[in-house]
Amino acid sequence: MREIQMVDLQRQYQRIKPEIDAAIQKVIDGAAFVKGAEVEQFARHLEAYTGAKHVIPVANGTEALQIALMALGLKPGDEVITPTFTFIATAEVVALLGLTPVVVDVDWGTMNMSAEAVARAITPKTKAIVPVHLFGQCADMEPLLRIAREHNLYVVEDTAQAIGARYTMGDGRTMQAGTMGDIGCTSFFPSKNLGCYGDGGALMTNDDALAQKIRIIANHGMTIRYHHDMIGVNSRLDTIQAAVLDTKLPYLDAYIAARQRAAAYYDKALGGCSRLDIPERSRHSTHVFHQYTLRITGADRDAVRQALSEAGIPAMVYYPIPLHLQKAYQDPRYKAGDFPVAERLAQCVLSLPMHTELDEEQLAYITEHVLRAVNA
Ligand SMILES: *Cc1c(COP(=O)(O)O)cnc(C)c1O
Repeated sequence: MREIQMVDLQRQYQRIKPEIDAAIQKVIDGAAFVKGAEVEQFARHLEAYTGAKHVIPVANGTEALQIALMALGLKPGDEVITPTFTFIATAEVVALLGLTPVVVDVDWGTMNMSAEAVARAITPKTKAIVPVHLFGQCADMEPLLRIAREHNLYVVEDTAQAIGARYTMGDGRTMQAGTMGDIGCTSFFPSKNLGCYGDGGALMTNDDALAQKIRIIANHGMTIRYHHDMIGVNSRLDTIQAAVLDTKLPYLDAYIAARQRAAAYYDKALGGCSRLDIPERSRHSTHVFHQYTLRITGADRDAVRQALSEAGIPAMVYYPIPLHLQKAYQDPRYKAGDFPVAERLAQCVLSLPMHTELDEEQLAYITEHVLRAVNA
């Protein structure tokens, strides 16, 4: 059996090596390492894929979130609601801009932001909601969008883990993750479902004025060369990364299907076990399985992880500490026990190897050892 990896980027590369190598070589030959034609070409292709009117590539997903909040013109003291069970980037940019992060609990089954919790957290200072489409399926956007409309709030989707996921509205319309709110932010970090060979990210929006503002902010706030009308940042997707992404984008649906096949195998092998819960599916969203995350309910999660590690199976804890319990984000408004679902998830989640290259032999070995470990 091949060695089991959490993410197998090497083998994925080998399958399309000639195409990737040629695309990278072309950039080197042209030497337009910044702002090469590939960047805009990839943006147009991602617009076609997602249905977003505008895609603006930037340097990474964290900066995409930061630029989104800057483009919305939020001011220090404005409150931004975000789930407490997520990667730190979401709250980090809120805090960096002097805005006030307001965290809310998540749903036990989908592990995504709960719309009821968001409704309860709204105050006169609330200006935006940042739902995170965690692990690859969309947060429940329809109620969130309704709440945002009622209270005149912006919605910025963090779709770093869910590019390609589709959400079906009550009227039957299906929309891509990242295209439902005012702005969608994604990451092309190598291990993400559409990953480049370094850092990368993008913003998506259907709003022409916002798109214009985002482009200006990402380019030093510059409208005409050396005329700076806004305070901006320097955030660019390298041409080489754009070339890699443009080569990989046509394979994204096949990559998602491969992840879904691995998830279906995990479901079938583990679904009958009473000591764990397999990932619950949203009724409204497809799941693109950035992660396949178990909740270990009838055994000690860390002991299970250790046993898997001894069997040569990597497994990861995303995320061990909710935002409100992180040292840097301590806030007199929050204490342990305030967000019981997120706190319980932090104790029991375990993500299994998930990537496009898992084969049946590996999946059989992994699931056999998971069952052995939880029943030990
Ligand atoms: C990866 C990730 C980010 C940040 O993306 P980078 O490109 O690493 O800056 C933000 N939010 C979530 C949920 C992520 O998973």
